[in-house]
Amino acid sequence: MKPTKTIWFDGKLVPWDDAKIHVLTHALHYGYAIFEGIRCNTTSNGPAIFRLSEHIDRLISGAKTYRMRLPYSRELLMGACLDLVRENGLEQCYIRPIVFSSFGELGVNPLQNPITGAIACWEWGAYLGDEGMEKGIRCAVSSWARIDARILPPQAKCSANYANSALAKMDAISAGYDEAILLTLDGHVAEGSGENIFMVRNGEVFTPTLDAGILAGITRSSVIQIARDNGIPVQEKNFTRDELFVADEVFFTGTAANVVPIREVDGRVIGSGHYPVTKMLQTVYLDAIHGKVEKYKPWLSYVR
Ligand code: PMP
Repeated sequence: MKPTKTIWFDGKLVPWDDAKIHVLTHALHYGYAIFEGIRCNTTSNGPAIFRLSEHIDRLISGAKTYRMRLPYSRELLMGACLDLVRENGLEQCYIRPIVFSSFGELGVNPLQNPITGAIACWEWGAYLGDEGMEKGIRCAVSSWARIDARILPPQAKCSANYANSALAKMDAISAGYDEAILLTLDGHVAEGSGENIFMVRNGEVFTPTLDAGILAGITRSSVIQIARDNGIPVQEKNFTRDELFVADEVFFTGTAANVVPIREVDGRVIGSGHYPVTKMLQTVYLDAIHGKVEKYKPWLSYVR
């Protein structure tokens, strides 16, 4: 990670090296933190943050679910993201806001502790690699099930959820794959460790419903809209892993990952090895985030 000049830390811009917390920070021990992953991309009008308001709204909803009393307004958080990117002089970056229960009592109950927020940004390329974006990645279905709504709220982007994601991701990488696909407790396809999943069959696009315990991905909703706007039918519907094996195309979506073809699942090559629908959606999505599609310009918040 390449350091930038400043990090927004509890309302102030502080030097990168000074954004530090105590080892007895409550969230470090119990995962009581809500975060976001946002991207800022180059456009012909300078850097622009993609769907900033949707990301901040998801952060605020997650905080509400966890009874977190945020000391910052929606407007303040949105403004802080824009100020931070501008201050750091970045043209393109990943932005990571986090709110967490900080220093106070160390019992499990976080309600007595203050909530602290931080926002950092840094340059970060394609999460699953440029080659993955082009040629597709290899995935394995994980033996770890995706967290269920009876265990942890899947819609809240809570740090605790990512212990589940990290177990799946580590096992996939250790077995020589690029990414894991997690199933629900009842065996339906849920999502990747940090991406939503889609499959294409006979020209139609399918993606699991939100009640499969998936995160309501902002890239997911953008890609659903892009597909429908381009005359491709999309159905939110749950399916099993064997349907992935025989799909024509399978792909992931996510802020970090963008739109990435999946070329192999559990050793089965997907489709013919060509991904026309995925590639079209990837192209339009990349054009949209770079401000090249008039219709999707309302999704951008310009930094300057
Ligand atoms: N699922 C999980 C578990 C994730 O962590 C992410 C990344 N935020 C996604 C899906 C994709 O969501 P988004 O498109 O909003 O980045």
